[in-house]
Amino acid sequence: MKVLIPVKRVLDYNVKVRVKSDESGVDLANVKMSMNPFDEISVEQAVRMQEAGTATETIAVSIGPDKAQETIRTSLAMGIDRGIHVKTDAEVEPLAVAKILKSIVEAEGIDLVILGKQAIDDDSNQTGQMLGALMDWPQATFANTIEKDGDNLTVGREVDGGIQTVKVSLPAIVTTDLRLNEPRYASLPNIMKAKRKPIDAKTPEDFGVDIAPRLSTLKVAEPAGRSAGVKVEDAAELVAKLKDEGVI
Ligand code: AMP
Repeated sequence: MKVLIPVKRVLDYNVKVRVKSDESGVDLANVKMSMNPFDEISVEQAVRMQEAGTATETIAVSIGPDKAQETIRTSLAMGIDRGIHVKTDAEVEPLAVAKILKSIVEAEGIDLVILGKQAIDDDSNQTGQMLGALMDWPQATFANTIEKDGDNLTVGREVDGGIQTVKVSLPAIVTTDLRLNEPRYASLPNIMKAKRKPIDAKTPEDFGVDIAPRLSTLKVAEPAGRSAGVKVEDAAELVAKLKDEGVI
């Protein structure tokens, strides 16, 4: 089973997001960028499948600027076999990402694509589903467990109030949720080994995909600041205050 793992380079989840003064977007100058956390979980899943002998080859792909190669290298250091870098300095929306992924899936003869459930920068939660539709493949989103049995995958999905178990036939699309696994840290020898693993260089034009945006961002604003709290003497005063302010 050949597995493709799309990995996105995003603002590190520990970084405090700053909005540009003209409210046109998030300030990305001189801030730490990392692999999207859900994509780390996908990488871990693919490496475990390879270790268990269920995946025969694992390929990471990232669509983004030159620095996206670092994100691919991180996945190679975790155990992925090889990478594909689709270079663009433009912001690429989920539909264009899904179209590029479709071309790669077809060219490489992929059996399973494991994506993150969402990228923490755009919070779209769209790419996996769009790829599922473009390929006309079954999809299991928000995976909490993944088991291969024959030509099927049994996937436990995180849904409100519990886990829903579904069976999908391969080839398929899976998107990962937070509790699927705990991604490993790359060891130093594996970081060194990853430097010699191949990364193919491509562009969106190689796949004939028009990446022109379909949306325009009108405004990005910081959340409203929280007002200072007040201390109350006892429960009775708290209840009175809450009533006063129409909370209860
Ligand atoms: P989104 O639909 O933008 O929330 O992203 C969901 C998932 O799609 C991510 O977790 C990645 O696995 C994949 N993805 C989105 N954008 C890219 C990109 N530029 N390069 C590689 N993978 C991506």
